[in-house]
Amino acid sequence: MRYLILSDLHANWEALQAVIHETDGKYDKAVCCGDLVGYAADPNLVVDWIREHCAVVVRGNHDRACTGLDDLQWFNPVARQAALWTLENLTKENIEYTALLAKGPVLLDDFEVVHGSPYDEDEYVLAAGEAGQAFGYLENRLAFFGHTHVQGGFIWNHSRVETIGRVSARNGSETLDIDPDCVYMINPGSVGQPRDGDPRAAFVIYDSDVHAVTYYRIPYDVETAQKKIREAGLPPILADRLMVGR
Ligand code: ZN
Repeated sequence: MRYLILSDLHANWEALQAVIHETDGKYDKAVCCGDLVGYAADPNLVVDWIREHCAVVVRGNHDRACTGLDDLQWFNPVARQAALWTLENLTKENIEYTALLAKGPVLLDDFEVVHGSPYDEDEYVLAAGEAGQAFGYLENRLAFFGHTHVQGGFIWNHSRVETIGRVSARNGSETLDIDPDCVYMINPGSVGQPRDGDPRAAFVIYDSDVHAVTYYRIPYDVETAQKKIREAGLPPILADRLMVGR
């Protein structure tokens, strides 16, 4: 089975469209690690697509914030403004769907899906120290997580945590073979707001038959996404950062 793993789409329809186009016919099931909405200007288009096409979706912190489940005191002013805008602009059906998303971890096939970490959906697993702790809570040898918007992840290799280096994906993709003696936390990166210095949309495809994860980076129409953010009256910095991937 080939799984398309998406995370942190953040209402960026142009980025998601590029991913849809690129992956046509290349996967059997789609899975999402959360943060469908918040930041960009097309929350309904993104949620509509996820509703129709994703077999498993866990919620992210922005999915809670943008549907009124959380109070916004922990959000910075820009994220708060985007959350309020999203709550005003999501349809009633999409608010209901997004508010009812499962809290991770969700188990599927031979892997699990979380937003932040297996013990705390809001934890940022950015470094080997946090990953080392998170590995202790996994029920499978493979997990997919998001939240940091940094493509890559970590490998538990005989009691040592290895960082999966920045995926250069110069030619657009890079494949990692899954060693059955190791444990993996794989971050597909962010579709809609990458923060690892590469503005291209990020995702992975996991092939459970051959035990391999392929990382992808693909260009998309950043200018249109930026224009929509500005025209919607969202904070302009949300448009600016897309160009630099920060
Ligand atoms: Zn996010």
